[in-house]
Amino acid sequence: MNIILLGPPGAGKGTQAGHLVASRDMIQLSTGDMLRAAKTSGTEMGKRVAEVMDRGELVTDEIVIGLIREQLEGDKKGGFIFDGFPRTLAQADALEALLKEFGEKLDAVVEMQVNDEVLVERIVGRAADAVAAGGTARADDNEESLKIRLMEYYKKTSPLIGYYHAKGNLVSVNGLASIEDVQAEIASVLG
Ligand code: ADP
Repeated sequence: MNIILLGPPGAGKGTQAGHLVASRDMIQLSTGDMLRAAKTSGTEMGKRVAEVMDRGELVTDEIVIGLIREQLEGDKKGGFIFDGFPRTLAQADALEALLKEFGEKLDAVVEMQVNDEVLVERIVGRAADAVAAGGTARADDNEESLKIRLMEYYKKTSPLIGYYHAKGNLVSVNGLASIEDVQAEIASVLG
């Protein structure tokens, strides 16, 4: 089974993806994680994406599509969880073409519904927890970048909700519920 987890920053996509990896042996493909890894690699690409990411803007479609393509070439185990990808309609089209090329199909798009107040609370809380634990917050987990990340989401990513609804792939879950309840709701919609 191949699924997309769709929702704004802070919706809980990574948390739920982690659970699906453990419970269904799926493979989490988080473009955010891949880009953060690229950022610390010291490569030219890493340097280019770092600035864009830290500001809270989207990196180019070309870069993320390339990252996803590499991963589809590997073992698919219980299927892929696309986490944070696609984020634009162009990425959605590219994903469709890639899945076709690899003989795969998209089984569901799980939209995690939350509200902006909760997102801001969660992300500001995540940054504070990281610092309290002696670490550092993500460079884009500050109020200024978060504002841009939310705008990017509404402008470029949220149109995907209508797109996947029209394609008949969309299921929505209440992302405001507890982690366990969201897990249960996802399990029930995926069957
Ligand atoms: P969040 O969902 O909490 O914003 P992510 O880890 O998914 O965090 O993404 C962090 C940043 O990485 C984004 O703000 C963006 O700059 C970049 N990014 C991740 N995925 C994509 C994508 N599919 N397309 C473009 N940029 C992306």
